[in-house]
Amino acid sequence: MSNSKAAVACINTDALQHNIQLIHHQAPSSKLLAVVKANGYGHGLLEVAKNAVGTDAYGVARIEEALQLRSGGIVKPILLLEGFYSPDDLPILVTNNIQTVIHCEEQLVALEQAELDGSVVVWLKMDTGMHRLGVRPEQYDEFIERLHNCKNVAKPLRYISHFGCADELDNPITSRQIELFEATTENCQGERSIAASSGILSRPDSHFEWVRPGIIMYGVSPFSHNDASQMGYRPVMTLRSHLIAINELKAGESVGYGANWSTERDTKIGVIAIGYGDGYPRTAPNGTPVFVNGRKVPLAGRVSMDMLTVDLGPDASDEVGDVAVMWGDNLPVEEVARFVGTIAYELVTKLTSRVISIYTKDHLGQ
Ligand SMILES: *Cc1c(COP(=O)(O)O)cnc(C)c1O
Repeated sequence: MSNSKAAVACINTDALQHNIQLIHHQAPSSKLLAVVKANGYGHGLLEVAKNAVGTDAYGVARIEEALQLRSGGIVKPILLLEGFYSPDDLPILVTNNIQTVIHCEEQLVALEQAELDGSVVVWLKMDTGMHRLGVRPEQYDEFIERLHNCKNVAKPLRYISHFGCADELDNPITSRQIELFEATTENCQGERSIAASSGILSRPDSHFEWVRPGIIMYGVSPFSHNDASQMGYRPVMTLRSHLIAINELKAGESVGYGANWSTERDTKIGVIAIGYGDGYPRTAPNGTPVFVNGRKVPLAGRVSMDMLTVDLGPDASDEVGDVAVMWGDNLPVEEVARFVGTIAYELVTKLTSRVISIYTKDHLGQ
């Protein structure tokens, strides 16, 4: 499999473990809830969970993800970050020891009315300013009291909130969110959590008892102003494929669908076996870098379903079969995301099932 000449995502578990150690170093007093939703941000749900050595719990978005972890042998606590979606899920949570967020009245009522064989660990989600999920400040006291009185809820309660702008370093909303979270939970006994990757990296005052790293664990920056490697993190995913053709073009000739790029000089065009059918974005513009034989070469022409084309240059000595890296080692996914006009989260998460994932360690090389 590792010799596949088509698109392969190489997942370096040594890099994952390095990143987890670095997070511990940056949040030394906090427990670590490793966020593995969306197939481990495209890196493989179960494989990431199994290799996330030194983490205390896992965070997922869907009950199906939690159950996949359980059937894969994961025994550590698992938290549903958005809570359960249906009252029918509650017995499943009890049976499988899955913790839940409570962010709204409907979930609270479902908990109050359920007949369960055990209690559920509940994280009360507070809306401290993002205004997506969570209980509003004026409702905190009522929710806390009703949860305390609910026999289906394990005590003490836990408290959770989420930043809306922590990726912008000087946004004053973040400080206001921390202050509100701190003030509300001041006299509560339970453990607290507000920081995801950006909070972990930029706001030590937001770490509390639990931090919830997602993207930074995968070695990708949550910020637009830097790459994770500048902060000592290592990319876990390297997405690569191979050159399957090299064509000589004459000045003035165009490449690909729509003929939207043409060469100003005679040059060599490399055809690489990866396209939007693999999750490489079709919106990547001409000039988006691809790493081939020690240098970056620019995307030239529209990305198609199974292939993309790059300008290797007139003097290129590349050969059919050579490796091309779309992102990862030597080419930060953050850089590609800037060209595409999206965030790196979306690029790594959107790989399709056609891409083979292989799990490697440092000494095994690419
Ligand atoms: C996805 C998610 C995280 C992780 O966010 P990153 O920016 O990837 O670190 C943390 N908390 C919640 C509630 C999430 O939904």
